[in-house]
Amino acid sequence: MLPKFKRILLKLSGESLMGDKNFGLDSAVLSQYAQDIKLITELGVQVAVVIGGGNIYRGMNEAETGIERAQGDYMGMLATVINGMALQSALERVGVFTRLQSAIKMEQIAEPYIRRRAIRHLEKGRVVIFGAGTGNPYFTTDTAGSLRAIEIGADVILKGTRVDGIYTADPEKDKLATRYETITFADCIARNLRVMDMTAFTLCMENQLPIIVFDMDTPGTLLRVIAGEKVGTLVTG
Ligand code: UDP
Repeated sequence: MLPKFKRILLKLSGESLMGDKNFGLDSAVLSQYAQDIKLITELGVQVAVVIGGGNIYRGMNEAETGIERAQGDYMGMLATVINGMALQSALERVGVFTRLQSAIKMEQIAEPYIRRRAIRHLEKGRVVIFGAGTGNPYFTTDTAGSLRAIEIGADVILKGTRVDGIYTADPEKDKLATRYETITFADCIARNLRVMDMTAFTLCMENQLPIIVFDMDTPGTLLRVIAGEKVGTLVTG
């Protein structure tokens, strides 16, 4: 099978790594993700991953925690490195070569983020995991995903979620909600559909980087996206 994309940026949420738990990491989810990623690397697809941290820490709720926003955001970024290390181990267990690069220097556990080096790893067939988000507070890992995707010249950003695409309304609340197969950036804004936060979304729109929102939790779906099947929702200019 000829893959539709040569180089992709896969955005995984931290929350999905919890599986059915309330906190932390579920090894079954990690190994499913690793298997799914392995399948597409075997086709020669170059894979970069940005991973969230919401299963461990989010910086936003200052009122609740008493921890000021910027401090909490740095804690959230550290959480993404923990997730990145867990995914790295899961990938290595199934025989996939990986490198973890961090936007915040911690050289004992991850390479520093160096764009050219990341591209070189990808060219050599290694999965590159980008940890610590953008390295800046007040951003999200969706923004880190868009930014890194553009920097490395990815063909597309694949946003793995628990739902299988973008719907006309919340499918959990509205039974009549239908899934868009494709939608434009402009229509997402006009219809107030929150695909990503505005910073992340605008970066993609301004740089003509397509987004595919798809269900990462059903094994094999990532492969179907790569094969060009009409699963999920494609957002383009
Ligand atoms: N974060 C940040 N800057 C970044 C990326 C992440 O400050 O560039 C912090 C922020 O506090 C965020 C947390 O890290 O709440 C975890 O990331 P995110 O909420 O995006 O993870 P996800 O929702 O994908 O699990």
